[in-house]
Formats: sequence, structure tokens, C-alpha cells
Amino acid sequence: MGKDIIKKLDWQNIVGHDFNKKIIENYINQKKLPHSIILSGVNGVGKKLIARHIAKMLMCQQRVCPCGQCQSCVAWEKGGFFGSYVLEGESQLLIDQVRTIKADLSKTSYVSDYRVVVMGEIERLTRPAANCLLKVLEEPGKKIVFLFTTGNIAGVVDTIVSRSTVLRFGRLSREESLKIVTNDAGGFGRDEIVNIMMGKPLFYDSLVRANKSVHVGNVIKFWRLVYAGVDVKQRLTMNVVKSTQNKLNGLYMFWESCIRDFWLWKNGIESRMWWKGVDEISDIHQKINLEDKTLMKMLDGLSFLRRNMHRGLNRKVQLMNWLMINN
Ligand SMILES: [Zn+2]
Repeated sequence: MGKDIIKKLDWQNIVGHDFNKKIIENYINQKKLPHSIILSGVNGVGKKLIARHIAKMLMCQQRVCPCGQCQSCVAWEKGGFFGSYVLEGESQLLIDQVRTIKADLSKTSYVSDYRVVVMGEIERLTRPAANCLLKVLEEPGKKIVFLFTTGNIAGVVDTIVSRSTVLRFGRLSREESLKIVTNDAGGFGRDEIVNIMMGKPLFYDSLVRANKSVHVGNVIKFWRLVYAGVDVKQRLTMNVVKSTQNKLNGLYMFWESCIRDFWLWKNGIESRMWWKGVDEISDIHQKINLEDKTLMKMLDGLSFLRRNMHRGLNRKVQLMNWLMINN
């Protein structure tokens, strides 16, 4: 493993944040990598993904990294190994966790030049844990890199921030969001996409304005046209969350009848069309032209939701999941 060889860094379809990627590349190529970096920015834009990827690149034993094949890369795929840590989760970060890392970092790594600690949401550090971590940051060992992420930099202990290089991550562009949703690039899972859809207007707009290859866009367009002039997302999700079981049953049945009527009309069978005039429905058809298969799936999904709504599952998530899957 030649220490002086400039490695080719491969971001492997991680979408967006080109500026920060360039900064990281320059740090690595010029051998000026700070020992502590905070990736700061709103949640859901890929900070943790990038932090883990940087760690993988740093620890890779090949010239093109991450190569995905060396001992280090393979270990990373399985969740890390001696000399690297990933601490992510819901709970607080405790002093014992930091102590363990501190003790292990004082030993020699047998695998890579670098040792990397990835720590998510460092605003979760308890005060004693933060103090313990500070001692490590004050006397950083050689080739030890801390990669922290936070969605709330104001909540991070000042002295940790001041000892770190802060990289700010903005929202992704419309095109980048689309790329993630359509190609599932960058390792975003379905849950993350659903989160994005529920919480981030920008991402949601991307979906709605998307062309037909974005499946969920079609379904949402359908509802948007059914409820002309109404915020469809709100109608679909907020109503569901707030409704009593009875109302919800009615709401799902209403949607089902809309779809059923639409399907009947589309196939030349007369239907009552009580929810829209014929002109409007043909307008909807011209604009979105959903396939029969899709409409049937939508019906199946709705009756599934109706049957399962008493189970106390998170209705909003359920509905959004269904919208993602069934079209
Ligand atoms: Zn490798």
C-alpha cells in the first residue's frame, strides 16, 4: 500500500453535494485531512451516507477507492471492524461508548493507514461523553479521523464545533432529488423516500412534477386532478391521520369509488360519475392516462388499507408506503 500514491476517489452514485465532495477530495489528495469534520445540514440530504463513504474511502487499501474488494472494504460492507466505528441511533451517546473508542484508538491498526470514527447526530452526546470526546480531539492521534454528522449544529457542544472543520450540506436540487427517487441511487431506502415525501416540500414537488417514469407522480397527479385546487398531499395524509375510523372508512371507500368509476369510464362502461362531470374525467384521463393495471393496484391497495386500518399502524406512513409501492 503506497502511502504516496494519490488515490482515485469514487463516490459511487452518491448524488449531489459536489462542492463538499471536491473539498474532501482535495483534503485527501493534499494530505491535509482535518482530524475532525462535522457534516452539518438538514436531515435527509445524505450526510451520514457520505460520512460512511468517506470512511470507507479512507480505509480502503487500493488505489481506486473504495475498491469494494480489499479487506477493509469487505469489512465495511459487513458493518465495520477494528479501528473504525459507526455510532448512529436514536438514544443519547454515552460516556462509555466514547471511552471504548478512545481506548481502541490508542492501539495500532493492522489494516489501514487511517482509523475513522463515524458518529451520527452528535447533538445527542451527553455532557460527560462530550467532555471525554473533547480530550481525544485535543490530542488527536496520527491518521485518526472523526466524521460527525448533525442536523442541529446549534445543539452541539461549542468546544467540539470549534475543534472541527464544519462542512455545510444544503438541500439537494430538484434534478438531484429526482435522480434519487427514480434510480434509487445513493442508497436511499423506501422509508427514507417516504420521509422525504412527507416532510420535505422540495422533494415532494419533484415527485409531482415528474414525468411518467416516476411512478408515484402519476398517482398523486390523479388525486390532484380529482381534488382540483386542493393540496393533495394534505388531503391524502392529514385527513387520514385525523379521521376517526368511521370517517376513514368513508374516505377510503370514496377513493375506491373514484378509481372504480374512472376505470369503468375508461373502458367504455357507463358509470354514475357522481364525483366529477364527464368533461372533467376525460380531462383527467388525457392528462395522466393511467393503465388499467395501475388502477387495479390502486384499488387493491385501498381495500388493503381499509381492512387494516384498525390495527393501529401509523396510517400516514402506511398510506404513503402504499402510494410508493402500488403503481
Ligand atoms: Zn478497498
